[in-house]
Amino acid sequence: MIYSFSRSDKSCDSFLKLLRQSGIDFDLAEHDHVVVRLLGQVTPDLERRLESAGFTRKRLILPREPEGDIYEDFHNRKTLKIIAGPCAVETEDQLEATAAALAGLGVKYLRGGAYKPRTSVDSFQGLGLPALKLLRSAADRYGMAVISEVMDRSQLETVAEYADVLQVGSRNMYNYTLLTTLGSVRKPVLLKRGMAATVDEWLKSAEYVTRGGNSRIILCERGVRTFEPEVAHTLDLAGMLIAARRSGFPIIADASHSAGRADLVSPLAVAAVAAGADGIMVEVHPRPHEALSDSRQALTIEDFAQLLKRATAVFAAQERDG
Ligand code: PEP
Ligand code: MN
Repeated sequence: MIYSFSRSDKSCDSFLKLLRQSGIDFDLAEHDHVVVRLLGQVTPDLERRLESAGFTRKRLILPREPEGDIYEDFHNRKTLKIIAGPCAVETEDQLEATAAALAGLGVKYLRGGAYKPRTSVDSFQGLGLPALKLLRSAADRYGMAVISEVMDRSQLETVAEYADVLQVGSRNMYNYTLLTTLGSVRKPVLLKRGMAATVDEWLKSAEYVTRGGNSRIILCERGVRTFEPEVAHTLDLAGMLIAARRSGFPIIADASHSAGRADLVSPLAVAAVAAGADGIMVEVHPRPHEALSDSRQALTIEDFAQLLKRATAVFAAQERDG
């Protein structure tokens, strides 16, 4: 069970005191507001005691914030959302070349990993804070918004200071303490599907965030593991559509991490748009063969520009409601 309090709400202290007195441990997340996730067994008796002390979940759930521009934009079905950028921020030159080219093509959302979840500990782990600073400065210069991954709750304050949208990676879709923390933030959360997660598990993960009071979820289908060795993952368009319909959240298709190979990125992205995705995420690098991570799937700027043309044409040919 999750309870939320605004930061100025003094009753939060008495709530925590009551929990301690009742021997109930809890997970506490504090950013824009305070989220308390109860641990242990929440018996009907405890629920009654909390209720009689004035703590009903209903009353404490924060009102939905007026939508910020970014989340509103993701909900606007009249435009195709394009998120592009390198897998990882590597150097100032690399990011500058990428951001300048993308901005020139009209891309509004600049992605780039600062903290990278790498399979091997010996692989490039991301630049960390310097990457976030480079992303922010490039995005500000070109009027773009930043999307970057937060891997752990310990990174939240730092990532939230520089990024406009907080990405939860596939490997972290099941990280419930991270998700609880993101419930206390007002920024949109781009929640990627776990690579072996069912749609139901994916949406239940989103609930960890929404129950804390942050309903600004953007779902991202990035492919699931199947028996097919020719591709890294299989883009699940049916799962993508079901997740979008069941939740009402905007849905983005990540065409890069699904197949894991550059030659399939464009057809997959276009197929996802044709199927009804609200947007696409694509990894772009000025010199893909030099990329320090995911070099096989990165598109050149020229190939990305072609993709963008095709995706935009398919999107324009559709009739979208709302
Ligand atoms: C990413 O987008 O940088 C990433 C690591 O993707 P995923 O979590 O989908 O593997
Ligand atoms: Mn990548």
